Amino acid sequence: MKYTIVNKETCIACGACNDVAPEIFGHDVKGNSHVILDNNQGTTAVPEKLYDDLEDAYEGCPSESIKIASEAFYGNAEKFD
Ligand code: SF4
Repeated sequence: MKYTIVNKETCIACGACNDVAPEIFGHDVKGNSHVILDNNQGTTAVPEKLYDDLEDAYEGCPSESIKIASEAFYGNAEKFD
């Protein structure tokens, strides 16, 4: 199982993750990225068919704001830092 969350404190709203993984990442009203699967709580397992997109977004994020873990984040993007 993989879970993901965006650290909105460091996201620079570049839009790259939304470009490569639109089924995972969207933008909130401030333009910051967020995980659309679970309103950026990191509690919904990412579907396996989206793992490649997730990896592309993770590797392409210029501010390392995308977090991935095998356990749920429960809204805390820095939980496993
Ligand atoms: Fe934010 Fe990173 Fe997504 Fe850019 S790629 S919008 S910095 S989370």
